[in-house]
Amino acid sequence: MGNKTLAILKPDCVRKNLIGQVITKITEAGFTVKGLKMVRLTEDSAKGFYEIHKDRPFFNDLIKYMTSGPCVPIVLEKENAVEEFRKLIGATDPKKAAEGTIRKLYAENIQENIVHGSDSDENAAKEISHFFSRKNLLDINGF
Ligand code: GDP
Repeated sequence: MGNKTLAILKPDCVRKNLIGQVITKITEAGFTVKGLKMVRLTEDSAKGFYEIHKDRPFFNDLIKYMTSGPCVPIVLEKENAVEEFRKLIGATDPKKAAEGTIRKLYAENIQENIVHGSDSDENAAKEISHFFSRKNLLDINGF
């Protein structure tokens, strides 16, 4: 069981000016911020990140949403980070998310759901590298 996960404060979180409130929830739940930045995903970068969903009917909408404005990827540390963070954010669809979870509190709908959390240790490592490894920085920041 790993101790790191990748969160993304998605474009709706940034637009609603909720960055501070959501990070407060995260740190109050015992996570430590190990890396953080604001980026605007390119289409290619968003498609790479969500490649697993490329055949799903909502894929194009998801890419449009994730490239619609800046987002904030964050590397978080806590024991059993992946599972603990998924519990904190709640179900993908905020209507089904448990009371007190970040998505229940702040999300609009199943797509615009405020925050991403890795779903396995293996994906956490890949996703952290997507945003924070040197070789990917140029693609993502566009300079
Ligand atoms: P997550 O791990 O809870 O983020 O959920 P998934 O990996 O299944 O989906 C990735 C993201 O795609 C979600 O967080 C939503 O932003 C979006 N998404 C998932 N399911 C749907 C859906 O049925 N319709 C739409 N429009 N977007 C979806």
